[in-house]
Amino acid sequence: MYCPYDKFGRRFSTAFYTRTLSNLEKCDREWLVYSKELYKVFCFCCKVFRKGISKSKLDGEGYADWHHVITRVKEHEISLDHLTNRNKWFDMRKRLNLNETIDKVQHEQFKKERDYWKQVLLRIIAMVKFLAKHNLAFRGSIEKLYQKSNGNLLGVIEMLEEFDPVIKEHVRRIKSEGLYVHYLGHLIQNELISLLAEEIKKELIKKIKEAKYYSIILDCFLNVDDTSRKGLFDITLEELKSLGEL
Ligand SMILES: [Zn+2]
Repeated sequence: MYCPYDKFGRRFSTAFYTRTLSNLEKCDREWLVYSKELYKVFCFCCKVFRKGISKSKLDGEGYADWHHVITRVKEHEISLDHLTNRNKWFDMRKRLNLNETIDKVQHEQFKKERDYWKQVLLRIIAMVKFLAKHNLAFRGSIEKLYQKSNGNLLGVIEMLEEFDPVIKEHVRRIKSEGLYVHYLGHLIQNELISLLAEEIKKELIKKIKEAKYYSIILDCFLNVDDTSRKGLFDITLEELKSLGEL
């Protein structure tokens, strides 16, 4: 609760923040907010929820007459507009706490969908890693689930569908909703292989840089036209430079 003051640094009473009820009980006027930048007080709910143009300084440009603020605040809090806006604010606050606002629901749905795709991708990446590590072919002659000769990757998907709820749901969506983007086609497979290869290359270069000595086997390493000793040396040197190794 900020003590109001004016441009000259004069301070004023904070009594207007508190309301005394008929049973003498005191409660905060939590809808009153003070701007330290503007030296003014505002009615939060009227400022946010009012419809149309501002009807008073409290719901508009702000109130700063500290000698009359208590009278003004008392008038304001029993006005119909204020009571309507206060109810809207309370209602919104309650729904926010209960996660019942439209934004919340949409946000939750978005989060759920994002998590779903993340889980699908994690599995596909794991499959790509497995097939690459074991030197297994990815694709068959056809790229459709549950068809003969559709390759190892789709075969693993079919097998996982029996056990894994994420893949089960993914296959269900592909079959029932005809998903155009399903991350099972050859383009995404190639992209994932390239990304993994890049990461592996980075890791190897890091290890080589850390090592004091290392050797190179020039076998199936690069396309070489000049197979003389100098030719092999030059092309190796060029490749090491391009990898940032030298
Ligand atoms: Zn108000």
